[in-house]
Amino acid sequence: MRIKIAVLIVSLLFSVGCLALEFPEGLEFSAPDIGASQKQASSYWLHDIAVKLVVVIAFSLASIGFVWFRLYRLRKWINIASIVILGFLLGGVLCPSNVIQNTIMKYNTAYLIMFLVPIILTLLLGRVYCGYVCPFGAIQELINTKKLRKKIPDKLDRKLKLIKYGILLIVGIGTVITGRAIGSLSLLKPIFTFSGTLASIIGTVGVLAASVFYYRPFCRYLCPYGALMALLSRLSFYRIRTSSSCVKCKICERKCNMAAIVDGSVGHECLLCGECIDVCPKGSLKINSGGRKE
Ligand code: SF4
Ligand code: SF4
Repeated sequence: MRIKIAVLIVSLLFSVGCLALEFPEGLEFSAPDIGASQKQASSYWLHDIAVKLVVVIAFSLASIGFVWFRLYRLRKWINIASIVILGFLLGGVLCPSNVIQNTIMKYNTAYLIMFLVPIILTLLLGRVYCGYVCPFGAIQELINTKKLRKKIPDKLDRKLKLIKYGILLIVGIGTVITGRAIGSLSLLKPIFTFSGTLASIIGTVGVLAASVFYYRPFCRYLCPYGALMALLSRLSFYRIRTSSSCVKCKICERKCNMAAIVDGSVGHECLLCGECIDVCPKGSLKINSGGRKE
């Protein structure tokens, strides 16, 4: 716990220090409003989105390496780097509450590519983006305290998880049909930008307070981008599968903080944290491609 607090304080000081430095003239680190002039949009693309895109791709490649070489125990370090760089330094990339409607509304090639990077990653390896790259997921995980952690009963947990699919449906279809952003409540973004509407600040405080006791509540129940990736992870090429050596001891089920393992099968809520793989006494859980099942 003390280490977590120290890391948070150092991250905050580092980020505030970096933001206090003067950026070279012309660097624009805030998103323009919808309807921004072409000039603003082009500066945004060149100086802001391009930087963010490169960093997101770099983090995504690193996360593939972490999973591929089974460096699960080091995951917290990529999470911390994500909080510092994608979170505090770059102002919270990509805002999971608004990325879907922003991609539709502020149509822009760079934005679309950035939106697609996590999707491609998901189709390859499942929700690695959520587990390793997303600063919004990482900050919830960092402040979650093992000693205070509470478990939500499975039945209720399964029902609550449906909320995020409802939000995805409303945001996605609503934005396309109405041509306007639907309820842009940027939960968690205020912690990285030190600004926000009263509603988003209150929501952020609520989510962060809940995160101390419950593992990633926003990711599990509210995030529309996470919902999209959970749906797509059903199609992912590589995923964690259970082999025939499984003795149904359920140790992995109890270990999984996402409650992603049901009856011995790893489901689409899995973030590839690798804890179940490490804990299985029979070594029955492995990352396999679709056609390869032992
Ligand atoms: S579920 Fe949403 S907030 Fe959580 S890690 Fe995934 S994209 Fe980020
Ligand atoms: S414990 Fe296993 S099933 Fe659960 S999120 Fe981690 S890797 Fe996925």
